[in-house]
Amino acid sequence: MNISFFNGKFLPHNKICISPEDRGFLFADGVYEVVRWYNGFFFDIEGHHARLRRSLRELKIKWGEEDSFPVIAEKLVKMNHLDDKPALVYFQVTRGAAPRSHTFPSPPVNPTIFAFARPFTPESSGKENGISVMLRKELRWGRCDIKSIALLPNTLCFTEAAEQGYGECIFVKDGFITEGSHSNIFFVIDGVLRTHPESESILSGITRKHTINAAMKCGIRVEERAVHEKELLQVSESFITNTSAEITPVIAFGSIPAGNGKPGPLTGQIHKKFREIVESYARR
Ligand code: PMP
Repeated sequence: MNISFFNGKFLPHNKICISPEDRGFLFADGVYEVVRWYNGFFFDIEGHHARLRRSLRELKIKWGEEDSFPVIAEKLVKMNHLDDKPALVYFQVTRGAAPRSHTFPSPPVNPTIFAFARPFTPESSGKENGISVMLRKELRWGRCDIKSIALLPNTLCFTEAAEQGYGECIFVKDGFITEGSHSNIFFVIDGVLRTHPESESILSGITRKHTINAAMKCGIRVEERAVHEKELLQVSESFITNTSAEITPVIAFGSIPAGNGKPGPLTGQIHKKFREIVESYARR
């Protein structure tokens, strides 16, 4: 029986009932986090916790017990007997249930807290052989830095990409590459590792942050400077990053090959260093 967390209680997953007036359901008025459990420890749960706090603050959602996020996440892993397995914990906070209105409930209502842990099998073929990505005009809202549950543009574009055999959909805003539907993206151009700077146009990925750190530890120059579509022909390597897949090489952007169309050597080096950083969390 899967045990999930709902509004202060650990319950069988199928016993959880959410109000039809929940603002998450009616307005996608909420935020989420996904944190990875590596057979015995969480990777940078502090980073995920800080991002959750920020997302809540930006949307003016008050959750009085936000300090309990790591405790709940760990309990879910243990209660679902996932201690020695790879797992993901999904965590969602919405503004709560109230009669439908465009204004926030006044006085505020209790937020709805929902979280679950799932076993997870890390994907290996994309990591070894690389993936091709589809490019699409940016159609999301202007606050992609908030980890909002309003993901319709992301799911629409990713579904279209997957149906066409692509491993990710990458958004292009005013000619510049921002990020993927559920990942950040990096490029090697003239030996320099480049990625979009932190801004309202991208989610500040936890994996992105550690990837930049890993690359610098490898002695690779890193520039947080957006890449223009026109520069894709000069790319020698590329990869995407996210919590579940870590670092996945990109071998083509639509019909344009990334470099020689094979996973590149710097990507391999950076990933190796990234794994060392992950393992350092086991000893904390
Ligand atoms: N951008 C978007 C839009 C995402 O959904 C994700 C995955 N949560 C990321 C970037 C990567 O973030 P992280 O490395 O924290 O998983």
